[in-house]
Amino acid sequence: MTAVAIDGPAGAGKSTAARAAAKRLGFVYVDTGAMYRAVGCRMRALGIAAGEVERVEQALEGLEVTIRFSNGEQRVLVNGEDVTGSIRTPDASRAASEFSALPCVRRFLFDLQQDLAKKNSVIMDGRDIGTVVLPWAQVKIFLTASPEERARRRFEELKAKGEEVSYDEILSDMKERDYQDSHREIAPLRPAEDAVLLDSTGLTLDEVVERIASLVEAKRG
Ligand code: C5P
Repeated sequence: MTAVAIDGPAGAGKSTAARAAAKRLGFVYVDTGAMYRAVGCRMRALGIAAGEVERVEQALEGLEVTIRFSNGEQRVLVNGEDVTGSIRTPDASRAASEFSALPCVRRFLFDLQQDLAKKNSVIMDGRDIGTVVLPWAQVKIFLTASPEERARRRFEELKAKGEEVSYDEILSDMKERDYQDSHREIAPLRPAEDAVLLDSTGLTLDEVVERIASLVEAKRG
């Protein structure tokens, strides 16, 4: 199995580029952020705050997160219910960021992520894939872009879906999430020592996909 780990801050274009590169290479694309979103939303629905660690641990016992692939697209199921569409809101992003700082939540999703990479050649994106989840990945990429560029892309994406959003709110949310994700004690966002740094500011999607695919093809020989 071949594994490609793509880490980086929110809005760097990881998921769009990873999805397209996976399609081109015939790999399975695994979006780990969606798993954290699913857990975060579930905790919110149960009225549990991230500070209530015991309640979170209890809730995790009754929680089943399943990943399915339909036409190459990842679907996330929580206790059998498909939540793929409903976890793409700003509140779900915040919930994911808050709950993902808890070791029990990271442990809970770690096995699921590893298992997917054992069974499939994957392009997996997240924050700690190259450093913690798949340290053995043959290709590791740390994808970044300036905060303004990342906020602009997320703004366009949500606007296209008809969501009422403000650019300033997205930018400040993004900066706050970047801070939380890179300063948490467990699995902070940082490039793996052997990761290739790729700054997508000013690059088109095709150019980013090209770079990813050529890094993978170079490793395959
Ligand atoms: O990638 P996405 O923006 O959907 O991720 C939502 C949140 O989930 C991130 O801000 C981060 O807090 C958390 N996350 C994480 N580790 C990952 C993937 C996502 O902590 N591997």
